[in-house]
Amino acid sequence: MSVSHKNKSTAVMPTYSRADISFDRGDGAYLVSTDGTRYLDFCAGIAVNALGHSDPRLVRALNDQAKKVWHTSNLFRIPDQEILANQLVALSFADLAFFCNSGAEAVEGGIKLCRKYHSANGEPERYRILSFDGSFHGRTLAALSASKNAGHLEGFGPETEGFDILPFGNTDELRAAVTEKTAAILVEPIQGEGGIRPAEYDFLRDIRSIANELGLLVFFDEVQCGIGRTGKLWAHEWAGVEPDVMAVAKGLGGGFPIGAVMATSEAAKGMVAGTHGSTFGGNYLAGAVARKVLEIVSEKKFLEKVQEIGKLLRYEIAKQCEKHPTVYKGVRGKGLMLGIKCGPPNSELVKLLRDEGLLTVGAGDNILRLVPPLIIDEHHVAEAVSMLSKVAKKLEKKKAEKKD
Ligand SMILES: *Cc1c(COP(=O)(O)O)cnc(C)c1O
Repeated sequence: MSVSHKNKSTAVMPTYSRADISFDRGDGAYLVSTDGTRYLDFCAGIAVNALGHSDPRLVRALNDQAKKVWHTSNLFRIPDQEILANQLVALSFADLAFFCNSGAEAVEGGIKLCRKYHSANGEPERYRILSFDGSFHGRTLAALSASKNAGHLEGFGPETEGFDILPFGNTDELRAAVTEKTAAILVEPIQGEGGIRPAEYDFLRDIRSIANELGLLVFFDEVQCGIGRTGKLWAHEWAGVEPDVMAVAKGLGGGFPIGAVMATSEAAKGMVAGTHGSTFGGNYLAGAVARKVLEIVSEKKFLEKVQEIGKLLRYEIAKQCEKHPTVYKGVRGKGLMLGIKCGPPNSELVKLLRDEGLLTVGAGDNILRLVPPLIIDEHHVAEAVSMLSKVAKKLEKKKAEKKD
């Protein structure tokens, strides 16, 4: 049976509201659609394509490995997985890493690790995780139960037990919520899906000190904000606070699916043979690509450039906010993880920008999210800003015409 690209009906389960575009190829920060239109990609697979599209170093790493061996399962040692784990450990607070295939799985693994830690300490009744409103931790049942987004949970039966949700940024309520059953505090240093909401550095420091005081684990979800996205390898470096456990994924494989649970050896002390596993996690292909991504992204010069370009993009967006205050109401975020508060619905702006040739993605709180590849340059910023400006002018003109 052949599938026509023109045929709009599809057997894919309709869980996404997709734009009717597909792509033929990618090149750096650009994507070319099947009808030949060129787009500047400031969505980057939702903060995934850290090195953009078709980076020759990643293409080579994948192809070289593909010719040798793809997959063996974790019944055997996987050298590139071990190298990747060593890299992650050398570059972070962590002593150990477990590999999976996605962000939600990394969060799940981290939740299990936190519970197991207290169980291994002889306190199995300490299993509850504190998390925050506006958070997003993925679409598995436990991850959804951690975020408690009513729309995401609707119709899926009882939540997974053991999660208490608190106001994001309120230290007093956090302290008051800790009980003898609390195992860990789970937080995104910068909320992504929730609308590019950075945690105050002081709040992250408070989380660390409350956890130290009361024997809890600190669990950072850096699935979106990690891997250089903010101009430091880990977003929590900005606050100078280290977690005990961390979930990473999105940028790690640069587009190849891989996630990781990173932890100190103390926090991971319950994770002995047989306690957790994944068929695909960290296989040969994933390991070969991710170790290359990490090697490139963790370079000091690379990260400095992300900071510099992020500042420029933010500055240029702030200027657009001043020029078009009814369309763009402000900019927030860090590095190349930026959100613009929209006047009109963000979905309308995403569509108008796409028609202009700029791919972006919405986020909660009516935010237009810009998460471009980390390799963008000054001229990509200029190009994106000129499209932002064009769309704002169009909207202002439309509004003025309505008034007449
Ligand atoms: C995207 C995301 C997840 C879920 O990742 P998937 O790969 O879609 O399962 C979890 N946490 C955060 C912070 C994310 O941005």
